[in-house]
Amino acid sequence: MQQSVIYDDQKAVEKALQKLESLPPLVSPTEIIKLRNSLREVALGKAFLLQGGDCAELFDYCSEEPIDAKIKLLLQMSLVLIWGGHIPVVRMARMAGQFAKPRSSMTEIIDGKEIPSFRGDNINGFDLADRTPDPARLVSAYFHSAATLNYVRSQLASGFADLHRPFEWTLSHVQNDRTKQEYQAIVSSITETISFMRTVGADQARSLDTVDLYTSHEGLHLEYEQCLTRSLKDPSDGQRKWFNTSAHFIWIGDRTRQLDGAHVEYFRGIENPIGIKVGPSMKNEELTALLDIVNPRKEIGKVTLITRYGRAKIHDLLPGHIKGVKNSGHVVVWQCKALFLKIHRVLADMTRPFLPVFRNTRSSASGIKTRQFSSIIEELSAAHCIHKEHGTHLGGVHLELTGDAVTECVGGSQGLTDDDLSLNYTTYCDPRLNNKQALEAAFLIAGWYRD
Ligand code: PEP
Repeated sequence: MQQSVIYDDQKAVEKALQKLESLPPLVSPTEIIKLRNSLREVALGKAFLLQGGDCAELFDYCSEEPIDAKIKLLLQMSLVLIWGGHIPVVRMARMAGQFAKPRSSMTEIIDGKEIPSFRGDNINGFDLADRTPDPARLVSAYFHSAATLNYVRSQLASGFADLHRPFEWTLSHVQNDRTKQEYQAIVSSITETISFMRTVGADQARSLDTVDLYTSHEGLHLEYEQCLTRSLKDPSDGQRKWFNTSAHFIWIGDRTRQLDGAHVEYFRGIENPIGIKVGPSMKNEELTALLDIVNPRKEIGKVTLITRYGRAKIHDLLPGHIKGVKNSGHVVVWQCKALFLKIHRVLADMTRPFLPVFRNTRSSASGIKTRQFSSIIEELSAAHCIHKEHGTHLGGVHLELTGDAVTECVGGSQGLTDDDLSLNYTTYCDPRLNNKQALEAAFLIAGWYRD
């Protein structure tokens, strides 16, 4: 099996899996089917999918402040996108379970020694002394997911997303006056609309008190996913079916999408809406064969194709994939995840120190990974235009982001440069858009639909 985890202690693995099998589902079939229906709307161009969250979620992120920051950000971004597209937005967080990370290499060389790579908090620890896979982490992953989800649910139920409450939209970081004015105009338009609805009582008809927020992660660790897969009644027809209850939506990564592989075999058996990462190495015929396997009934919106080519390759690759999928008769959600990554060399004369995580590992040898805000926007914008030209539509965006003020991606109206990366670079995996950059991405995307 691709990306499989080799544990030293099989008895401990059995114990962990048995425990997981006995624990209750984290999400319900009713919620999963509701999401599937919403994604059908997205596939038909009647709604937009916003998916975002950390590249690698850590157990330590299961804490009040980072969770609040992330839900506030996703909520604000969704309001901006609703303003832009005049259609509902389906909100999905990469959260409450996005622990396992696929790796190109299972080992890395540190200080001349080969040690296991960090594969996500549910498998091993980032600390060098903690790299041996530990099955007890799977049970810990369940409880951290449960605690995160419980807090999200309680916040939403207690009015966190109540649009009657004024939102704080800080735009003071925007350096360019014209851009600031444009963003301010969008915020004013949104707040005035909400206030108008309140005044005329239009907010009574459809509740503005709360919103749906779905959870998602890469379905990478199959033993974990299997333990949380339960035969439950489908509320739409009362039949017992297999639901993955670890999250509302899971996706197949680019490294585990082999047609005859274990991951595809697992994914074809579940009722949840699913995602498939589509990268530069995906052949057109492979993509349609994959869709036939995981969605033989060609249910509209059951599959979200998360395209990730990089801005240099998208023009060559996306049109072929669109044509292939159209000819196959599948109607999917087309979502774009901008891939662009560059290595920023750490300069010897850098005055500000990096966090210890980079002092003792990758930074010294190979530099650190960053993303250019403008390249992310260029790939998203190219996806939007290419879909328009081919009679399909970009149904959603998938962004690695955090609600915190990190400095991991350069650019954006805050003007972050390579030299600023050391200020607050805390990701344990790929660089994330910070709260301001992510909100700005939403402003820019909304603009395409208004123009
Ligand atoms: C991810 O989304 O977590 C991931 C591994 O993505 P990609 O391979 O698309 O960078």
